[in-house]
Amino acid sequence: MTTEQDKHQQKMKKRKEVLDAKIAKATEERGVLILMKGNGKGKSSSAFGTLARALGHQQKAGVIQFIKGRKHTGEFLFFKDHPQIDFNVMGHGFTWETQDKQKDIEAAKKAWVKAKSMLEDPTLNILIFDELSYMFKYGYLDVAPVVEALQNRPKHQNVIITGRTMAVELQEIADTISIVQDEKHAFRQGVKAQAGIEW
Ligand code: ATP
Ligand code: MG
Repeated sequence: MTTEQDKHQQKMKKRKEVLDAKIAKATEERGVLILMKGNGKGKSSSAFGTLARALGHQQKAGVIQFIKGRKHTGEFLFFKDHPQIDFNVMGHGFTWETQDKQKDIEAAKKAWVKAKSMLEDPTLNILIFDELSYMFKYGYLDVAPVVEALQNRPKHQNVIITGRTMAVELQEIADTISIVQDEKHAFRQGVKAQAGIEW
């Protein structure tokens, strides 16, 4: 007679075999392009969590925050002086506050020059381009040169791009895409945005 314990053991053994077979198949060693998209909260915080993970392994990182010109986010204050990180915030205030399209385009182009140089630097293990996707949505940057630079980057370099909506061209070349879906948000219950949670 098989007991509950036996059944459980059998099931777990099968599961482990399936998983081990999948692990054995994943042998390629290279960097990946990760996209964090969707309308829920958690895209940028996921990217910065991964950054902390990489730093723990003594890796070197490049960060560019597109759009968010204000330099008072917790991630900026915490990471800006870290010796393993080249941290950059795009030149100038929130797009929807400045309402100066020409200045926004100039700032975006300047930030892209920096981003491109990071994509050519094999000493940088991980890059975070936070909110890059908006640059294409607003038409501030062309997506084609970005795709080209991503495809030609050093083989072992990991890149994380965040933003609510993602250009199709980026999705086509991505290795990992996660959708952060909004189910509930405190803001809609009238809770004020707070340091350490929203910024
Ligand atoms: P986070 O930086 O917290 O990981 P995110 O990168 O996923 O958030 P963004 O679109 O960059 O989200 O928006 C950043 C800010 O907007 C955060 O303060 C977040 O709490 C807030 N936010 C995100 N999603 C929602 C939502 N669905 N409704 C209201 N506010 C939101
Ligand atoms: Mg974000």
